[in-house]
Amino acid sequence: MNDRVRSAELFAASREVIPGGVNSPVRSFRSVGGTPPFIARGEGAYLYDVDGNRYIDYFLSWGPLVLGHAHPEVVEALREAVLRGTSYGAPTELELELAREVIDFYPGLEMIRMVNSGTEATMSALRVARAATGRPKVVKFIGNYHGHHDSLLVRAGSGAMDMGVPDSPGVAPGAARDTLSLPYNDLDAVREAFRQHGDQIAAVIVEPVAGNMGLVLPRPGFLEGLRSITREHGALLVFDEVLCGFRLPGGSAAAHFGIDPDLVTLGKVIGGGLPVGAYGGKRRYMELVAPAGPVYQAGTLSGNPLAMTAGLTQLRILRRPGVMAEIERKTARLVEGLNALLSRRGLPYRAQGIGSLWGLFFSAEPVYDYESALKSDTRLFARFFHALLRRGVYIAPSQFESGFMSLAHTDADLDATLEAAGDALDEALAMVQ
Ligand SMILES: *Cc1c(COP(=O)(O)O)cnc(C)c1O
Repeated sequence: MNDRVRSAELFAASREVIPGGVNSPVRSFRSVGGTPPFIARGEGAYLYDVDGNRYIDYFLSWGPLVLGHAHPEVVEALREAVLRGTSYGAPTELELELAREVIDFYPGLEMIRMVNSGTEATMSALRVARAATGRPKVVKFIGNYHGHHDSLLVRAGSGAMDMGVPDSPGVAPGAARDTLSLPYNDLDAVREAFRQHGDQIAAVIVEPVAGNMGLVLPRPGFLEGLRSITREHGALLVFDEVLCGFRLPGGSAAAHFGIDPDLVTLGKVIGGGLPVGAYGGKRRYMELVAPAGPVYQAGTLSGNPLAMTAGLTQLRILRRPGVMAEIERKTARLVEGLNALLSRRGLPYRAQGIGSLWGLFFSAEPVYDYESALKSDTRLFARFFHALLRRGVYIAPSQFESGFMSLAHTDADLDATLEAAGDALDEALAMVQ
């Protein structure tokens, strides 16, 4: 491994002109210390930095790259698309195709609107929910992240968690006043909130599989409970599948858990690595959206032809027979291998995976919500992270993020990763003692 001299120079220069040197906080390595590699290119399962180091990539642009970097068919489709222009601001057949592809993939989805980020998607979905119900309040779960718009930037997981500022300054007190934050996986808390405010609650928004406080699975019955409580009180259930969408078995939480949400938000995978988000759901709600209805929402670059091309190409490859199963097999293999490393060393920690998502908490206790996630040994994580990075394996630089897998990762990559992980673990443990 080369040192990262050029990266360090670029980071110092960036900090002069970009806040913290990055365009999204977690990239700065703030929670693990040190300076981030500056990336020169990605190919398949690998990232290459400006100092010539290669890394096996397990954060994959924070989830979108389910086929890996620069998949040849996605690149070829983009090459052809760019020659036809980069943006029109007028409708295209591509948008219809991607809408149909997602609707066909996601059970119960009837209409969908493309936006440019997951943040826009959740902001817009809640606007629809408030308009549909005429109610102001929204329930969210502590440690779930739904983007950075004002009303949901409350107890919002990873980024905010690492910064130690669960609520950001600059958010007007009124903007978050109608947001109720409850512990994840706690149906009693939801019942109590509805007992007190039931006629004021427009929606419950949830990450059906939580990926922004580390990977935390819903307890059996939690999502079913949310469905029945919201139905009983005339509130909408919003599944935020920006992160878990097209990464769970069956493609979605709706399919995997057999639950029919009223509204859904998507992003990440559906953009194939270009900036895309989407919100959708039942026709009766989505027909409230302008110009079909009165709820205003718009976007200069929404439905951008390059983004639609990348997303459509990626989703079509993902739906080929055996592709999702292969990514899931590799995820399970990695998780099994990590657990073997941990138990061989007598450590009480566990990795877990679902679909093409995986996670590892350095905590002896089961993690089921934000409070329990916080019991993790973040100092050990930081040392493990850097020891792994030095060995050419790049996982998300925070204990409170998920791991991802792509089609491009080979079994040889997994072997190399597990060998590096064993050594990195030993190094980290030796340093901590
Ligand atoms: C990443 C994420 C968002 C925000 O998406 P951006 O494209 O970063 O705005 C929203 N919800 C969840 C669950 C996410 O993981």
